[in-house]
Amino acid sequence: MALEDPAMVNRDSQGEPHVIYAEDGIATAWNSDFMRSIRRELLAGQRPDACQRCFREEDLGVASHRQSSNGAFAHHKDAVLRQTEADGHAPIELIRSIDIRLGNRCNLRCRMCSPVSSRALLAEFASYHEVPTDDPRLTRLIGEDWVSKSHFQRTFAACVRHAEKLMFAGGEPLLVPEMEKMLRVVVDQGRAGGIDLEYVTNLTVLPERLFELWAHFRRVSFVVSLDGVGRVGELIRHPLRWDRFDQNARTLDARAASLPGAGLHANVTVQIYNVLHLDAVVDYVATALPHFGRPKLSLLFYPEHLSVRVLSPELKVEATARLRALAGRIRDRCPPQWQGAPMEDLCASINGIIEFINAQDRGDLLPEFQRWTRHLDQTRGESTLAILPELAPLLG
Ligand code: SF4
Repeated sequence: MALEDPAMVNRDSQGEPHVIYAEDGIATAWNSDFMRSIRRELLAGQRPDACQRCFREEDLGVASHRQSSNGAFAHHKDAVLRQTEADGHAPIELIRSIDIRLGNRCNLRCRMCSPVSSRALLAEFASYHEVPTDDPRLTRLIGEDWVSKSHFQRTFAACVRHAEKLMFAGGEPLLVPEMEKMLRVVVDQGRAGGIDLEYVTNLTVLPERLFELWAHFRRVSFVVSLDGVGRVGELIRHPLRWDRFDQNARTLDARAASLPGAGLHANVTVQIYNVLHLDAVVDYVATALPHFGRPKLSLLFYPEHLSVRVLSPELKVEATARLRALAGRIRDRCPPQWQGAPMEDLCASINGIIEFINAQDRGDLLPEFQRWTRHLDQTRGESTLAILPELAPLLG
């Protein structure tokens, strides 16, 4: 779903968000007006507003989460259609995939993130908006530390009995102790062998003890956030230490054979700070991480002032040329591990980015981009221009 759009929230009739840590929270949330209306629209072949991100990607020729999920769970299609009522009501036992955003405990403060996902960004958001850090509009974003609540733990234990896939994102899931406890629940239930596990991680940590738990699962996959190599990555994903990240990525790659059905991917959030440097990321993954699949290139839509559409006309021409050259190079000298469909997917993603960049101009957001960049540079003692001098026409 378009979770990045604050308007697209599963709310009750009073406008309050449904929370999974409330007693019986899953039962009401799963069959709320919001969820039933999404199901009705999908059954009618429509495009629900909450699903726009996936449809937008599909329109650009980029493989979406919706499409990959439909493929992975196609064997349940007939049963799901049979058990979903005309008003969109569906039994909880149909939950096969559990996507747990473990809150906002994170050790990074990525430039495109917000306190919703990393509470470490609170002070910088407060000073940017010139409000105190306890301003309710900001503290509301932080939310409750819900994952340790007993109602949620009970809900998890019940739902995971039917699950086939378990996804953890954060914050940073490998830093959250409750994630490990949940893995132990699944192992103790004897269910791990029927479950695919997937992480979205910044890979700043890679705890050795987790490898023993991961060995129980049917498959273990990682989507590793990687927005730039070396100093570009450090600038976007402050206070990332590239050396440390590189070491963890190479360790994960080297241990792929010890992880059941390991699926390893890097995910690049394509934004104004890195669109001119995607070739370095693709080259790094191809050469340093041979067990990783082709990198996933995900367009940033929010915050809009970091979108590639904010580039000046001249920089759009430059970005387009670099991306075309990258696609051509991948086709001519494709790394052996990406031959075939992965290479086609990667080239389709690059073409989708080119189309997106040039379809609309958001130069109106340039002042916001400048203010945000200067604010972070100042508070962090960094210089975007020293690392990305080609952005001088925007920031100079
Ligand atoms: S690693 Fe993820 S959650 Fe943490 S700051 Fe970066 S984008 Fe946000």
